[in-house]
Amino acid sequence: MSVEPTIPTSSPGAGTLLRLIRDGQASTRAELVALTGLARSTVAQRMDALLSQQLVVPAGGSVSTGGRPPQMFAFNRDAGVVLAADLGATHSRVAMTDLGGEVLAETTKEIPIADGPDAVLTWLEQAFDVMLSEFGRTHDDVRGAGVGVPGPVEFATGTPVAPPIMPGWDGYRVGGRLADYFGAPTLVDNDVNIMALGEHYKAWRAYDHLLFVKVGTGIGCGIITEGRIHRGAQGAAGDIGHIHVPGNLEICRCGNRGCLEAVAGGGAMAARLRAEGIAAENSRDVVRHVREGRAEAMQLVRQAGRELGEVLAASVNFFNPGVIVIGGDIAHADEHLLAGVREVVYQRAVPLGTRSLRIVRSALDDRAGVIGAAAMVIEHVLAPDAVDRMLAGLPQAG
Ligand SMILES: [Zn+2]
Repeated sequence: MSVEPTIPTSSPGAGTLLRLIRDGQASTRAELVALTGLARSTVAQRMDALLSQQLVVPAGGSVSTGGRPPQMFAFNRDAGVVLAADLGATHSRVAMTDLGGEVLAETTKEIPIADGPDAVLTWLEQAFDVMLSEFGRTHDDVRGAGVGVPGPVEFATGTPVAPPIMPGWDGYRVGGRLADYFGAPTLVDNDVNIMALGEHYKAWRAYDHLLFVKVGTGIGCGIITEGRIHRGAQGAAGDIGHIHVPGNLEICRCGNRGCLEAVAGGGAMAARLRAEGIAAENSRDVVRHVREGRAEAMQLVRQAGRELGEVLAASVNFFNPGVIVIGGDIAHADEHLLAGVREVVYQRAVPLGTRSLRIVRSALDDRAGVIGAAAMVIEHVLAPDAVDRMLAGLPQAG
């Protein structure tokens, strides 16, 4: 492999060429020369480095314009695999994807996050190992791993920070453990952020500004701005579940009164149904009652949609998203939740903010998390500077 020991920062490296090929902007050396302004010999050398790592492969079917047809190249999605996990409060989903984010294998398990990091991560490692061996892959093929957890995370270190429903996980180095085990960069983020990324990556790539709202037991929001996750100064961005909804005095698990989550979360709705003598343990029970046509449940969910709409109307004025995607268990309550949200947002937010705003249900549903975790890893390990570091034999960050 002939690559320079130091990386030139002034001119586009091999990673940038790979980006252009992945994005479909270039498929021949001549196109890469035209797009980057690099010398033909430099492009040839950098393409050799990408070919040697099998990140690109020769592709057939070039269009002949007379004379010798130019060699075409394509991104090799099979040059490794990505491991993705969406750990939930009571059940988890893991998947293995190719480098294009297509799911090759996946499995789910009912496992409480409260069982602690050792039990959950040991299961995770075994589940990934089974998938790898079924596809004839080894740890050497793992380009990276991504994990979503139901709590706040210090993204830089892949460590949950004081997560309320994850006893034993505070300060546990999830990213470090998996990076050591698989020998690959591992990124950890909270579940709502990875779901937002998954929706954006698969369904809404043309929209630079997206809000993903998860309405499950609690309520959280992932924010995509300029196509990237916005985490905020301390990673607390998007915690809309604890925004105050005027006129409500319900006590929230955070200790405050009148939080959105305390009136519109699935846990709060289940409690209200119980108070009316209707059996409901959790958000899934609420959805079941709605589907069975129980008026009290339908009314509750519609009202929860309106309460959520109040907070989202303010968010629309503040952030001006192009699309709001609603996911989580309660989003399964047919159109009742969305109807309530739409009613209030279109009525309350400023006209310019709602003129072309879309409010939709999650397209990926239960798979948004694993697809987002894979997308997070792919964009990290195939970022131009990460590719340049890899080709130069330098250690990867993450
Ligand atoms: Zn609260």
